[in-house]
Amino acid sequence: MATNYPILRLKRGKEESLDRFHPWVFSGALTAMPSDIDEGDLVRIVASDGRTIGVGHFQIGSIAVRMLAFDDIEIGAGFYRDCLTQAWLLRQRLGLTRPDNTAFRLVHGEGDFLPGLVVDVYGDTAVVQAHSPGMHFAREVIARQLVELTAGGVPLGVKNVYYKSETTLPYKAHLDPVNDYLIGHSDENIATENGLRFNIDWLRGQKTGFFVDQRDNRALLEHYSRGARVLNMFCYTGGFSVYAMRGGAELVHSVDSSSKAVALTDANIALNFPGDTRHKSFAEDAFKFLERMEKSQYDLIVLDPPAFAKHRSALRNALRGYQKLNAAAFDKIAPGGVLFTFSCSQAVSREQFRLAVFSAAAQSGRKVRILHQLTQPADHPINIYHPEGEYLKGLILYVE
Ligand code: SAH
Repeated sequence: MATNYPILRLKRGKEESLDRFHPWVFSGALTAMPSDIDEGDLVRIVASDGRTIGVGHFQIGSIAVRMLAFDDIEIGAGFYRDCLTQAWLLRQRLGLTRPDNTAFRLVHGEGDFLPGLVVDVYGDTAVVQAHSPGMHFAREVIARQLVELTAGGVPLGVKNVYYKSETTLPYKAHLDPVNDYLIGHSDENIATENGLRFNIDWLRGQKTGFFVDQRDNRALLEHYSRGARVLNMFCYTGGFSVYAMRGGAELVHSVDSSSKAVALTDANIALNFPGDTRHKSFAEDAFKFLERMEKSQYDLIVLDPPAFAKHRSALRNALRGYQKLNAAAFDKIAPGGVLFTFSCSQAVSREQFRLAVFSAAAQSGRKVRILHQLTQPADHPINIYHPEGEYLKGLILYVE
């Protein structure tokens, strides 16, 4: 059935990337903009030869339209229900929907063919984040579908939907920020990841309250932890620390400049290992901590800083930041040590990150080998037509 969404026309030759299913239409690709279209409106994209390319959400900015379908179809409850069902089937296929694993990403934007939408599931609560005005306006429909999936035979089990877009694009576009439950309410905020329990603070925490994207890498760290003295830098909720404890670390030190993060880490350690004295945390700047700590104090160091480059313009400084941070770790880690080092900046490529770490290693003069090259987990899939969806990069290094 054809839609009657307002039409946006592409300039001649600008349909090429869309014909290869890239989900973004840049503003420069469009002919004149009709004045009756508002941010978040659904639009139909038409090529210069009159052929319909598909439908998407319009927004003001360099990305003008995020494509939702490469067809002329209605984007309503049925569309979201189908996409969410597909998203759930994939997570089930990945083995993430188990009683001992109740935290996972259900929707990863373009990676789930829903540009502008993120949904993280923590037990029976879904935390929804819009990164586009269009998804902001669709939030009620999406929330309803999330809850109704279960009755429809998809056992997602979500009863509460918390919407959190106070700091994301709708807010920047001066739309009413909303941080509230759209459906239900929950005071039970403990979710399980690989059998470990975590308090998830979706009300006040960063992003949706937890970094589910480090699940696989945390599990890998567990295997390197036996008998090790572990330093978890930029610990946030202490995910790596809790896995290191289970892995049999001799001691685990967690560092974050935010005292709130340190309190979250302490709470999660206490939840899983009450009374265990192997763990200690420090509310301190990571660079200062690395500077003041002794050489060979730790056998295993995790460096998982926030995105140093949020935009391309900050790239040079970001690369310098990664180099400095990693150089300090190479300088201090014990012989035979293992370094887990990450970058979650989308603007920093895998090669650039590796080069920054390589420069840091060379600066230390130590013998360094790459053991693993890490990426984001499978519940953060990368749409093959949208390589920009790859953002998390990590290296596990052996330092002699
Ligand atoms: N490793 C965490 C996620 C890290 S998020 C996990 O697995 O969940 C990045 C963290 O870095 C945030 O908690 C932030 O408070 C902290 N941070 C930012 N700048 C810092 C600095 N200069 N020193 C120490 N911590 C910092």
